[in-house]
Amino acid sequence: MSDLDPEEFRRLGYAVVDWIAQYRAGLADLPVRPDVEPGRVREQLSATLLSPGLPEEPRPLTALLDEVDRVVVPASTHWQHPGFFGYFPANASLHSLFGDMLSGGLGAQGMLWTTSPAATEVEQVLLDGLAAALGLGPEFAFTGGGGGSIQDSASSAALVALLAALNRSSPEWQERGVDGTERVYVTAETHSSLAKAVRVAGLGARALRIVEPSPGSLAMSPTALADAMRADADAGLRPVLVCATVGTTGTGAVDPVREIARAAAGQGAWVHVDAAWAGVAALCPEHRHLLDGVELVDSFCTDAHKWLLTAFDASLLWVRDAAVLPAALSITPEYLRNAATQSGAVVDYRDWQVPLGRRFRALKLWAVVHGHGLSGLREHIRSHVALADELAGLVRADPGFTLAAEPSLSLVCLRVVTGAGPEADDNATRTVLERVNASGTAFLTHIVVDGRYAIRVAIGSVTTESSHVKALWKRLRTEAAGCLTKSSDDRVDPATSG
Ligand SMILES: *Cc1c(COP(=O)(O)O)cnc(C)c1O
Repeated sequence: MSDLDPEEFRRLGYAVVDWIAQYRAGLADLPVRPDVEPGRVREQLSATLLSPGLPEEPRPLTALLDEVDRVVVPASTHWQHPGFFGYFPANASLHSLFGDMLSGGLGAQGMLWTTSPAATEVEQVLLDGLAAALGLGPEFAFTGGGGGSIQDSASSAALVALLAALNRSSPEWQERGVDGTERVYVTAETHSSLAKAVRVAGLGARALRIVEPSPGSLAMSPTALADAMRADADAGLRPVLVCATVGTTGTGAVDPVREIARAAAGQGAWVHVDAAWAGVAALCPEHRHLLDGVELVDSFCTDAHKWLLTAFDASLLWVRDAAVLPAALSITPEYLRNAATQSGAVVDYRDWQVPLGRRFRALKLWAVVHGHGLSGLREHIRSHVALADELAGLVRADPGFTLAAEPSLSLVCLRVVTGAGPEADDNATRTVLERVNASGTAFLTHIVVDGRYAIRVAIGSVTTESSHVKALWKRLRTEAAGCLTKSSDDRVDPATSG
């Protein structure tokens, strides 16, 4: 046998589990982000792995773990660190790792129902259950004629939604491709994955219409959307898809789904809701209003791999009609023909995505739901929303800071107030962000809102607690105070003020 003997695997497997447990237990003591020069990892690894070439002979597992400690950990950004507040979280809870291990252990490839029935049906059941738990409405469940699937990313979800929309919009699409009249409606805040989907689908950037926000907000104006679609239709163009975002990546803004769906219905455009980060909050009844009107849309996506404790990758995509994705994507070569598919009684998930092959991702989602229960998931969401409220309160009460946008769930955008004008504020905010990040105690990212530089604090790591947010606030204030003394002397360090 060329693989490990299962008994040997059992023995070595404990060493890997020990390694992970020790890494997670010690995370808080590591700098969130490594201080590493480009090329450093390649240089270190080439010395052991490529000279003279990849190892000819097998090496022991312990040596691999040593290399991970020596080379990988010091050059890693620790996304599971309690001080990670950048981008959006990428929760990889320990519960979800159990499911990942089981999936790898089974090693099944669930492209068709027949290639591993459990891989398909476990996914169907979990997505039906989560649709109900999120309040999506019975029409999004397989039992109601719709259905959900686990995609690798919200970006892929947007792409397949667009392909289904193109297919529905034109009976010619499969034969002739796009004709240049297709139009896709987004806002300036919509995630770049929509622009990418438009490019990948061959529509060209001219197909992308940026709809204005409602006055005084960053959310799409339904009136502006209706006007834009009508003007396009009058000009012989085809409104194909509207993307409504629930929780934009920049500031967590929420497009009004119900009004958008109503406006789109008049033009027959597909409505896709991108709730990659914020959608999972709908597990809590008090946040369900975010999805108001979702029963009117064609597709809805939220990432379990951001804020729902499930290790990347697990993006959940539901459609209101289970036939739409296969109608757009199914191509069946002879070798994939089988009786179960022909019977029409099964779902073949290969027809719901771009790749043919697929992992048994539902197991890690199952492990999360099983290990935390819905009550635990709600508590996870609520604890971070409460921490964000607390931080927002501190920002409001401090004249040295201001909120750059209304806080959204667990996302707080803030900037430093110097009293010396917008440019000085922007510079100070940038300097504070750079210094906090250089400290290694926390990691923050930035955004530009209304032309002004702001710090994003995305609370949501699995182990982030009140003490970590308090420590962050303390450091923000210290760095801002340091900046103020300097900028009042006009001595902002040019190397760090960008
Ligand atoms: C993160 C994010 C995406 C992209 O998510 P992936 O799953 O990494 O593709 C798309 N839309 C929004 C609103 C996001 O926040």
